[in-house]
Amino acid sequence: MGKKIASIRGMNDILPDETPVWQWLEERARAVLQAYGYREIRLPMVESTELFKRSIGEVTDIVEKEMYTFEDRNGDSLTLRPEGTAGCVRAGEQHNLFYGATPRLWYMGPMFRHERPQAGRYRQFHQMGVEAFGMEGPDIDAEIILMTAALWRALGLEDEVTLELNSLGDAHDRQRHREALVAYLSDHREQLDDDSQRRLERNPLRILDSKDANTQKVLEDAPRLADYLGESARAHFHELRAILDAAGIEYRINSSLVRGLDYYGKTVFEWVTDALGAQGTVCAGGRYDGLASQLGGRDTPAVGFAMGLERLVWLLSRDGGEREPVPDVYIVAPEHRARALTLADELRTGLPGRRILCHCGGGSFKSQMKKADKSGARLALMLGEAELERSEAVVKPMRGGGEQQSVALAELPARLSQWLARQDETR
Ligand code: ATP
Ligand code: MG
Repeated sequence: MGKKIASIRGMNDILPDETPVWQWLEERARAVLQAYGYREIRLPMVESTELFKRSIGEVTDIVEKEMYTFEDRNGDSLTLRPEGTAGCVRAGEQHNLFYGATPRLWYMGPMFRHERPQAGRYRQFHQMGVEAFGMEGPDIDAEIILMTAALWRALGLEDEVTLELNSLGDAHDRQRHREALVAYLSDHREQLDDDSQRRLERNPLRILDSKDANTQKVLEDAPRLADYLGESARAHFHELRAILDAAGIEYRINSSLVRGLDYYGKTVFEWVTDALGAQGTVCAGGRYDGLASQLGGRDTPAVGFAMGLERLVWLLSRDGGEREPVPDVYIVAPEHRARALTLADELRTGLPGRRILCHCGGGSFKSQMKKADKSGARLALMLGEAELERSEAVVKPMRGGGEQQSVALAELPARLSQWLARQDETR
């Protein structure tokens, strides 16, 4: 026998006990997005490496060290998508979705990043993302944030998460700030840690994330992006805040919120929670007006966000709440497999929406009843020799007491329906 093969580190199976929460989350989220008029787009999981380099940025954590990049058999460099925005912009441009239109889109699926696996951080993880194109905002920025707030309410998480907001200004605001920052940091070069000294040329903004105490001290007096915002970015941010205030959305201005992807400008936001330790961001997004033209398309203002589904699932699972309905009916028939299977299908037709399980795999009456009990089923339906001769079955309540009864097969759908409805009421 060969050695057992395990899954790849950081790429998790989502087991049947866990999928009910996932499905519940996905359904609720989908309903909210659709209520706001957003439409689903399904994108490939693999794109050309160039797409991510040009959008996310060469000098970002994702592109420098987290991408799963490989050569395919034609020698083309391909990458498992680390996020969804780049592919969405590529698709919109390729299929002319932006031309004279303002599409509101959403997508959902796995993303891949070679990070150090830990709680809330995996190598294959899932995002649900939203992108709105062709609108300069700030009304659409506000709508997107209001929609995320509606999502938390739909998921019962409104007390778990808080909103952080910042403006990154326009491209030339960031350029002016960057120049001032580099000048200031160059004057204090010898006080910076080694990593930060190296970043000074390549990506000075990342020095702001340094954990080094001396560097942090130097940063206290560094030029702040907020002081470099031009008139247009200021007005945009002001109006966004006015709409959020009017809608009663609470937020905290976090001037160190910069996001790890190069394409953002103006509005950026994150929804964070204390409940997840260091991996506290459950939803992150912002405006990226420059991306479409950066990828060779026509200028298209855009704003979007992505939610990390693993982190949301974790929040939703803490109460251990049951989200999967138990079987409504479990059919036990040691001697009449064929009849049991056809009866099960008749009941699925006659009782739409109910869960009908038919015992498979043989075994004695007693062992089948044990399985019925273990499944958590509400009713067992027993098909024995004697009953079938009279065209009847025995219905036995498995939960909450009640006597078992013989019921004519022809009357089963109606009787079971009544029975279950009565149980629904008393639950
Ligand atoms: P972080 O600061 O947590 O690394 P990020 O800025 O890299 O996040 P984004 O690229 O903006 O994250 O992705 C949006 C969301 O996707 C994050 O807020 C998080 O919820 C989730 N996410 C990102 N990376 C991972 C990962 N490796 N595992 C699980 N979820 C992730
Ligand atoms: Mg990250």
